[in-house]
Amino acid sequence: MYKKLFIPGPTHVRDEVLEAQTAPMLGHRSTDYSDLQAEVTPKLQQLLYTEQPVFIYTSSGTGVMEGSIRQTVLKRSLNTVCGAFSKRWHDIAVANGVPCDKIEVPMGEGFTPEMVDEALAEGDYDVLTVTLNETSTGVMNPLKDIAAMVREKYPDVVILVDAVSAMGGVKIEVDAWDVDVVISSSQKCFALPPGLTIAAVSERAMKRAEQVPNRGYYYDFLDMYKYFKRNQTPATPAISLIQALNQQMDDILADGIEARWERHIAMAEVVRAWARQYWALFPNENFLSNTVTTIKNTRGVSIADLNKELATRGAMLSNGYGGLKEQTFRIAHMGDLTVEDVKWLLGMIDDILDLA
Ligand SMILES: *Cc1c(COP(=O)(O)O)cnc(C)c1O
Repeated sequence: MYKKLFIPGPTHVRDEVLEAQTAPMLGHRSTDYSDLQAEVTPKLQQLLYTEQPVFIYTSSGTGVMEGSIRQTVLKRSLNTVCGAFSKRWHDIAVANGVPCDKIEVPMGEGFTPEMVDEALAEGDYDVLTVTLNETSTGVMNPLKDIAAMVREKYPDVVILVDAVSAMGGVKIEVDAWDVDVVISSSQKCFALPPGLTIAAVSERAMKRAEQVPNRGYYYDFLDMYKYFKRNQTPATPAISLIQALNQQMDDILADGIEARWERHIAMAEVVRAWARQYWALFPNENFLSNTVTTIKNTRGVSIADLNKELATRGAMLSNGYGGLKEQTFRIAHMGDLTVEDVKWLLGMIDDILDLA
């Protein structure tokens, strides 16, 4: 049975976007395809407030995280770990034999610029990884402030940003903040099916990649850029998904991107107020996410059973991640969901658990 998804990816996809995938197939070396990529790219640049290249990879986000860390570290990477997804940066670096260290905060906490500064000062780092929105805990890190500190004190450090569960839902000013690689998968705030990764890549990142000899093949920024200039990709892209992306970007821009950021904040505020009333928020209040709220299961209800009941009513939320399962649960409020959708979900939970 169809369920409206309040999980942090894949998110609910509107029918118009699903249907855009059924447009006739194009040859990926044809001018028809180049026209498509030439059409969609400036829309992505507008969404990200950037004039630098925005690449479309046919891959999940994790692939581009791996490609990015592989081709930007000459010396050492500092990885900021505040949950399961930010830990992935560190695991990827280790798996690739990339020299790295991690700094870690407890689940529910985030990073201040001062904490990152202290750690960067201790080693000879040339890459910093940051997770804008830690989906496992519902923590949003102050990327703008962290980046400002890095640009002032460590100008050569390349900043890699996992924005997978934030891009398209929160404002990320790529050029003004001067961050280097900003990555998002299609199945989160873009509200598309999974399969694409959108990545803004700076000149600083590409200059660094030039110096890295074994930087890998599929994700190579320099190769991507060579093809980007003629509106193509080195390997065959998921053309149907890019058709859907083009449709979705038209709709996003027609609604207005500022309105999109505001809608995400409004949804987050509704969920937070409800969580404070009937439960408790899991993260430190200074780092609350605008796209996913993690709630402490203070009532000790079975989240699995709650989800089963919700399923019969056509909705689905997320249990806590990993060790936080049943101790917390997560409500994603991202993508094309609305305040009305969120109120509908909360009303059903009130009814099922007899809260209100
Ligand atoms: C979903 C998610 C990922 C993983 O993305 P994939 O597209 O599944 O590879 C990475 N980081 C964060 C913060 C996420 O929310």
